[in-house]
Amino acid sequence: MMESGLYIHVPFCASKCDYCDFYSHSDAALRSDYIDALLLEMQTEAAFLSAGKPMLRTIYFGGGTPSMLSEAEFERIFEGIRCYYDLSLCEEITLEANPDDLTIDAIQALRRLPFNRISIGIQSLNDAELRAIHRRHTAAQALEAVHACAAAGFQNISVDLMYGLPEQTVEQFEESLRQVLNLPIQHISSYALSWEEGSVLYAKRMKGLLKEADDAFLETCYHLLASRLAEKGFERYELSNFAKPGFVSKHNSSYWDGRWYLGLGPSAHSYNGVERRMNVASTKRYIQSLRNGKPDREVEPLDHYTRYNDYIMTRLRTMAGFDVREMEADFGVRLRYYCMQQAKKSLHSGLLLYENFRLRLSDKALFVSDSVLSDLIWA
Ligand code: SF4
Repeated sequence: MMESGLYIHVPFCASKCDYCDFYSHSDAALRSDYIDALLLEMQTEAAFLSAGKPMLRTIYFGGGTPSMLSEAEFERIFEGIRCYYDLSLCEEITLEANPDDLTIDAIQALRRLPFNRISIGIQSLNDAELRAIHRRHTAAQALEAVHACAAAGFQNISVDLMYGLPEQTVEQFEESLRQVLNLPIQHISSYALSWEEGSVLYAKRMKGLLKEADDAFLETCYHLLASRLAEKGFERYELSNFAKPGFVSKHNSSYWDGRWYLGLGPSAHSYNGVERRMNVASTKRYIQSLRNGKPDREVEPLDHYTRYNDYIMTRLRTMAGFDVREMEADFGVRLRYYCMQQAKKSLHSGLLLYENFRLRLSDKALFVSDSVLSDLIWA
């Protein structure tokens, strides 16, 4: 039986960050009903992965702000997971955490729970930048949180770092990066700020109150990031993810490797090779629909070409790329031929590389990967 991933979306946040377009809200009164619904969903949906108790390889609590949950709430959730899933081969259990939640008491509680990986949303170590995106924590809190997690015994710590923040200079980003690289961490996810329609930042930009960083700025930060991380022994294994040897995120890698996963909670996505499902992005409707025994979700059956497009878009995000012979085994000689024909332009310009039957992005392509990938998809 193939081992799968379990994602649990915790939709609560104490306040909304200005760039955020994830499904989250501050209605904490729904917490208890949400957990009841989650337990119901984890029982009834286990069959999405396999008959019997699905074997889990990874569990990931994302959000929202999962670190807002109490020890007792986590215990209830883990009790349910143990009841309906087989954890005997489970290798990685990650909690996404906000620095302001990581008090000494909270970290001690997390150590008593089964988490063996913690992913901390630092985003920046500059207080003015943090205020500009309406994060709740300060740079000092972020530094303390990481050190406290390491001191408490977490040996697999990841941090998120953003660039292209409002009014950010290259020097400021470099300084945040310098401090991050002095932390006891094993993994970094670093992304350019994305100006999502519907977010507060987007509205401010539309009113002319803020300006988006230009491509030259983002490219400078991107290359700075890659070179500083390489000097410190972090390997890039995906466009935005870097790890010390042995600390690649197993859960996130499973998305890029096409493993099956079940997403529980409002707005969570699931995939089992045959269909993709998206839970309703409303905690109230999520709870009500599970109570009624009619989960509110969209289901998208995956045809041959959609699966091929997913394959290209996920495998080529990784530095390893993919073996075209394996791709042919899944999708047939016609799509292999199509893929290689479409790849010609980027192979010629050096944006794609083809070695030992593997197709992958070159270093030159990492900043312009979207256009390279879009050439290969089946339109
Ligand atoms: S903590 Fe995360 S999920 Fe919550 S508002 Fe901020 S970015 Fe969004």
